[in-house]
Amino acid sequence: MRQLSLAAFVMVLATHASGVTGVASEPQPAQVMRTGDPYKRGYTDADFPRIRRLAEGAYSYEQLRSAGSEKFTTVSLFVVTTAGVLVADGQGSVAETERLVAEIGKVTSQPITHVVIGSDHGDHTAGNRAFPAGVKYFVHPTSQTILKIPNAELVRDRATLRLGGTEIQVHFLGRAHTGGDLSVYLPNGKILFMSEAYLHRIFPAMRSAYPTEWVRTIENAQAMDADIYVPGHGFVDSPAILKEELETFRRAIVQVIAEARRLRLAGLTADAAAAEAKFGDLESWTLRSSQAATAIRRVFLELEGKLGGK
Ligand SMILES: [Zn+2]
Repeated sequence: MRQLSLAAFVMVLATHASGVTGVASEPQPAQVMRTGDPYKRGYTDADFPRIRRLAEGAYSYEQLRSAGSEKFTTVSLFVVTTAGVLVADGQGSVAETERLVAEIGKVTSQPITHVVIGSDHGDHTAGNRAFPAGVKYFVHPTSQTILKIPNAELVRDRATLRLGGTEIQVHFLGRAHTGGDLSVYLPNGKILFMSEAYLHRIFPAMRSAYPTEWVRTIENAQAMDADIYVPGHGFVDSPAILKEELETFRRAIVQVIAEARRLRLAGLTADAAAAEAKFGDLESWTLRSSQAATAIRRVFLELEGKLGGK
């Protein structure tokens, strides 16, 4: 009989249904390259989608998406209960959300019954018609003005639901990446799925963001009793790395705001500032080339009081 090495044995223990890995199989923080780029980490396209079991019944789903020449992961969360499955955020096309639905079907025979709109952007919603007809949607009013989902339940502040014996909370922690940003909190496992309010090593994408409020929203998340912070883009690493990187991302937003403010005080126009801005450590982050100018212009709008009240 073949002998299993200790490492292989640990992997077996950490592996559940087909290809599902648990956080117990994570390499130590020092061994993990801090980047959103799958190829720099040594992955190939064939390594995705990647499903990880975060706690009993709670799974993250990471699938690659392209933006120009860059690739990075879009993350969905799904929660399996004895009374159905809740999904937080779909993927960016009908084909990709069909894939998500099919992969969930390999983990559980429970039907998908609830979907939370963490971000209303197309890379998280464009495939939603692949979800079963009749699923119940939870959406913030701001996102609902864009998506207009029939019979959706609006979440202005917080909603708590019990599916089977599982408690699931939906929170609006403040405006961030879209203005309608919802997070999903699972008291069992202390998991907070933050959708696009948390971009792990992805340059702060601010096309429809509220920069200063976004910083406060992250601080609200950091004040919660959470052990595992799950991003909407970027890798689902170990809980320790995800907590550390959430603070790294918060500081990245602060840095972008400070750079825009500095250039504005120097008398530059938004367009000139967008061309001139320097980002230090953020220069190597995924989407720096495509998102930095947009972010600078958005901070200018905020500084000029043009983003509008709540
Ligand atoms: Zn987005």
